[in-house]
Amino acid sequence: MKNFEFHNPTKIVFGADTVAKLSTLVPHDARVLILYGGASAEKTGTLAEVRAALALGQRSVQEFGGIEPNPSYETLMRAVAQVRSEKVDFLLAVGGGSVIDGTKFVAAAALYDGEPWEIAERGGANVQRALPFGTVLTLPATGSEMNSGGVVTKKATHAKLSFRNPLLYPQFSVLDPSKTFTLPATQVANGLVDAFVHTTEQYLTYPVQAMVQDRFAEGLLQTLVEIAPQAVASPDDYATRANLMWTATLALNGLIGAGVPQDWATHMIGHELTALYDIDHARTLALVLPALLDVQREQKRGKLLQYGERVWNITEGSDDERIDTAIARTRAFFEGLGIPTRLSAYQLGQEAVEAVLKQLKAHGMTSLGEHRDIDLARSRRILEAAL
Ligand code: NAP
Ligand code: FE
Repeated sequence: MKNFEFHNPTKIVFGADTVAKLSTLVPHDARVLILYGGASAEKTGTLAEVRAALALGQRSVQEFGGIEPNPSYETLMRAVAQVRSEKVDFLLAVGGGSVIDGTKFVAAAALYDGEPWEIAERGGANVQRALPFGTVLTLPATGSEMNSGGVVTKKATHAKLSFRNPLLYPQFSVLDPSKTFTLPATQVANGLVDAFVHTTEQYLTYPVQAMVQDRFAEGLLQTLVEIAPQAVASPDDYATRANLMWTATLALNGLIGAGVPQDWATHMIGHELTALYDIDHARTLALVLPALLDVQREQKRGKLLQYGERVWNITEGSDDERIDTAIARTRAFFEGLGIPTRLSAYQLGQEAVEAVLKQLKAHGMTSLGEHRDIDLARSRRILEAAL
């Protein structure tokens, strides 16, 4: 096992009817800005519940709506202006990963001396102060509710960059599974795939002896596979949504990643696909992961065999046949959720491969993967294997 430090300060408040607890979770004398996305938070009534909970106290409460999926720097800078002019001192994100990530950017950008895009360009290393914030999660997928990372897009240059800093953990996150009942099936499927790939990015890496992290990751993957059909088919099945919500949080809250090598190449290549072609985040991961596992099969050999056996119960055939089957089962899992695994499904061909490679180069993504051996030539092989 590698050396590691693990410290996750986010308080989780989990369960039905927990939004009301905001009345005590948010400081009673704070100047609060509620940040949310498009229409969903208002339509579902979640925003009304949040407003009611915050009204109990001396708080000044303002709102900023309109944070789009794959939140843009351009939109977020309008929130930064509001925070600065209104002297807001506490942020409350109400939404999915996009609203939470956007709130993290605003929390850091509002107190940043200089041009805030530098935060994205430097991956968050230059964040020295940030406003405190909490979240109300409405979409289980990203784990952003219990981690210190975010992803922000500069529309002007099609740059989708991630940032991370220990100052950007939420103080608390309210996880009420019933808040997910209104999600369209496509977003539930996206969430299952995003959580699945967060787990594989930290598990399907060069094997180290990290036995409990492995078993934990395998448990998360098996749970996602097991609950997927019901999670998509039965929107108001509380028990299933509760399992989905907590699984997605645990997939990226640092626990399974402690002491193990991490890959993240699927995410980095996927970000370029979203920035260029506006494909949903999770859908880009489904395009990249099966192709990446095939191209990296020698580097990941031992772990792919373990994955096949423990997650998919594959015990027959030669090693290479078992790896082929494990990759095929992964692909079938995504396709079974209605999520394509080939670029051709989006009418993208060789020109998209070239465009993504150009962006990867521009963003310095030239040595990805747990061994830093995914250079542009290998990214090309991965993208071509996804055609
Ligand atoms: P999202 O972009 O936050 O939301 C997708 C859609 O779902 C939005 O249109 C939203 O509508 C709708 N929605 C959310 N909650 C809903 C509800 N309860 N009922 C009905 N509709 C609802 O999706 P996401 O997958 O959670 O976040 C994706 C972003 O997170 C990407 O930018 C990705 O790169 C990033 N990400 C971050 C991390 C991390 O660790 N921080 C990890 C992976 C990915 P409205 O806009 O109308 O609300
Ligand atoms: Fe993700």
